[in-house]
Parts: sequence; structure tokens; C-alpha cells
Amino acid sequence: MTPSLIPALETHDSQPFDLMLVPGLGRLFRWRHARPVLQAPLLIISIAMILHGLFGPTLAPKNLATTLSWLHFRGLLVLVLLSAGNFFCLACPFMLVRQMARRFLKPRFNWPRPLRNKWISVALFALILFVYELFDLWSSPWWTAWLIVAYFLTVLVVDGFFKHASFCKFVCPIGQFNFVASTLSPFEVKVRKQEVCTSCDTKDCIRGRRAPSSDLVLIRGCELALFQPRKVGNLDCTFCLDCVHACPHDNIGILSRLPGEELLTDPLRSGIGYFSQRKDLAALAIVFTFGALLNAFGMVSPVYAVESWLGRLLHLRHEAPVLGLIFTCFLILEPVLLLGLAAWLARAWSGVRGALLPLVVRYSYGIVPLGFGMWLAHYSFHFLTGLYTIVPVTQNAVASLGRPLLGLPRWTLTGLAPNLVQVIEVGFLLLGFAGSLTVIHGLAEDDAPEKPLRAFLPWATVCLILWLASMWLIFQPMEMRATLMSG
Ligand code: SF4
Ligand code: SF4
Repeated sequence: MTPSLIPALETHDSQPFDLMLVPGLGRLFRWRHARPVLQAPLLIISIAMILHGLFGPTLAPKNLATTLSWLHFRGLLVLVLLSAGNFFCLACPFMLVRQMARRFLKPRFNWPRPLRNKWISVALFALILFVYELFDLWSSPWWTAWLIVAYFLTVLVVDGFFKHASFCKFVCPIGQFNFVASTLSPFEVKVRKQEVCTSCDTKDCIRGRRAPSSDLVLIRGCELALFQPRKVGNLDCTFCLDCVHACPHDNIGILSRLPGEELLTDPLRSGIGYFSQRKDLAALAIVFTFGALLNAFGMVSPVYAVESWLGRLLHLRHEAPVLGLIFTCFLILEPVLLLGLAAWLARAWSGVRGALLPLVVRYSYGIVPLGFGMWLAHYSFHFLTGLYTIVPVTQNAVASLGRPLLGLPRWTLTGLAPNLVQVIEVGFLLLGFAGSLTVIHGLAEDDAPEKPLRAFLPWATVCLILWLASMWLIFQPMEMRATLMSG
């Protein structure tokens, strides 16, 4: 690659790399119709998944709905988040359907003020994890198809009634997952020069570009209420690029930055406020992290032993209450105990002042890298070990239409060897562990400049416990979900 192909790299070393300046890519992102063009293929794939899930083979490893949802989509999602940013939200097929519906259905209401937080999406996030285990979604094309249908319908209902991007900001559990994970992404939609914003009269990035002497909006401003000059980090940003198109000064880029840096500071963030005052965001970070371990726990063999032991102990015959108990332990009791104890010890040892809850809220963001490491390890395991299954499943789906245009299914194609993938998993877990220690150390240095080690150690111990649990999980015998290897 010659330097001239990357103009941003030709400038000073301190200048961030700007994806918008990459020839071809920048042109695509600047194009007003880039989003629908990226969304359309995903919408077509979603429709194929729904149809195949409802009418195709009932065996999960042979069905597009299950293999694409639980092997390929999730794996690609976390890898793109790690290597670039929240580009799934940019290409989100649900938003394409919403846009089409909004041609006929104009939302009239603002999202209710008491619900302008993450509590609904935290609950939905936990609910999806619960439903995934209870109905063994990975093994059910039919339920997977209905989940996708339900998602489309919910988007239409929520954004049919409520203005702006209410679904993305306050409801969508996938979006919240992406928002939290993208705090660790290397790219961010950000203004290039603050001084240009200072002298900007129109603020079109938030207001939208309007027709001269009229209120008609020609190009939408940020629907997520993120005002570019005061936007900090990736949280709540769907990478929709509306702000890029609206800014009359071409002052917004997709800039490189240090992954996770935004977790270290607590400035006033546009559209978000202060991290330290957002208990709902802290709860999201906690469910994101502990949910990563819980979701992985659900795929290893010991979970069955725990479930049957609990069932016998409590004389419970149905799986739902047993699972409910496990979820309560993992998502509520365990975090309360571990984080509460760490906060208490850190306060007692380092002399940090204040109540325990604000301390827990502040340090909850520090465990996000660990959680992301676990999601990466888990999803990349399924993705990489089932990497090539997309080929026979697609061949089979096409053949079921009448003619095997793509050839006969080659069911022997699976993916990379599990032993090799395990090395990659360990790498992700180490990366997450190192990231969490770095963030927590930075926070401890700020809070207790005199005794940073004392403020750091209790939280580092929590990280160590979670990391050891993650390591234990990836070495357990796994359910090879939605691959023919389970057979
Ligand atoms: S990003 Fe663009 S539209 Fe927004 S304030 Fe800056 S210069 Fe103005
Ligand atoms: S318009 Fe808002 S959500 Fe979309 S890319 Fe810009 S800041 Fe992010």
C-alpha cells in the first residue's frame, strides 16, 4: 500500500487515521444512499433466514436461520466491533424496514421521559439470554425465525409511534450490545477540528440540514441526540453517518483512537451525561460482562449437572424456574456481591470517600473489556469452528427450491480445528483481562493518587476471578451448537 493511497497517514503522526479519507471507502460513506445499499443485502438475507427457518429443514445445522444467526452473524459482529466499530448498526436491516414504513407512517410521539434510559434494554438483553437458553434457540430454526420476525415487528411498532431513533437508543438489546462493545473499537465517528464547530452557525449535524427559509429537513441530523462537538466515544452511536451527510463543513470523520480510552474518563457526554451518574448504563455494563460468562456457561456440559442438581434440591420439574434461579445468581447476586465487596475494600484501604453505589457504578465500566473478551472468545469459537458450514447450508437451501444451482451440499465442510481456535480464545481473554486492568488502574489513579494500588487491588481481584472463570469455561467440553459436529 503506497502512502498516497492513505492521505490521512501523510499528515503528522499525531493526526488520527480517518477511514473517510480512504479512497473508495470514504466516497462510499459520503454517498447519501450508502446506508440503504449496505442494508439491502442484510434484509434479503434476513428474509431468506425467516423463510428457511419456518419452512426449511428442522435440523439446526442444515438451516440458514440457525447457522447464520448463531454461528456467522454473532462471530462476524464481535470481530468487526473489535477491528473497526459499530458497522452492524450502520447496515442494520431493521432500520431499512423502519425507513420504508416511515414513508407511510409518521411517528407522532416523543419517547416518554421516564423511559429515556437503558433499563428496558437491560431487561430485554437479559430476557433474550434467558429465552435463548430456555428454548434452546441455537437448535430451533422455527423459534429463531420467529425471533427475527418479532424483532422486525417491535421495531415497526416502537418507531411507528415514537419519533427519532427511540428503538435504537432505548429498546434494542443488540444495539446496546454493540454500543457497549464499541467502546473498545478502534474507530469513532468524530469531528475533525473543534474550531470549525465553534465557528459553525447552523449545527446541522444535530438539527439536520434544512431547506432555505423553511423548516423542511433535507438531511436528517443525529437521531440519537449526539451533538458532534460534544460527543465522547462510541456509546449510543449507530454509525448511521447522518451527521456526516448533514455537516455542511465536511468536518466529521471516522477517526482512529485508543480502544477503551473512553472508559477511563468521565466528561459530560452529549446525549448521555456523566457515566458516573448513569446507574442504568452501569447495569448494562454489568449484564454485558456477567452475561458473557453466563451465556458461555449455558453452552458447556457442567450446566446440565447444575440444572439437574438444583431441580432435585428444590423439587422443581420445569426448566424455567431453575434457569431463573441460575440467572438471578449470575446476573444479580454475583455482581452485587463481587462488586459491592470490591467497592467496600477499595474504600476502606485507599480512603476514597463517598457511598458504595457510586463507586460500583464508576468501576463497572472497567469490567467491560473482560466481558467483551469473553463474548469474543465464545462467539469466535462457534464462528471459526463452523466457518465453512455456510457453504453446504446455502447449497442445500438453493437445492430445496428445485435445482441444485450451487451444486450438491458438501456437508463435510465445517471449519477450523477446535484446538487452534482455543488458542485464539485464550488470546481474546488475555486481551480483555489486560484491558480491564488498564481501565481500572487508570480509574484508581484518579480516585486515590496517594494510594492507587490499594484502590486498584480489590477491583483487580474481581477481574482475576472473572478471568479465571472465563478460562475455565473455554476449556470445558462444549456443545457444538448448530454445527453437524454435535451429531
Ligand atoms: S459537526 Fe459540522 S454541523 Fe456539527 S457543529 Fe461541527 S461543523 Fe457544525
Ligand atoms: S448521526 Fe449520531 S448515531 Fe449517526 S453516526 Fe452521527 S453521531 Fe453516530
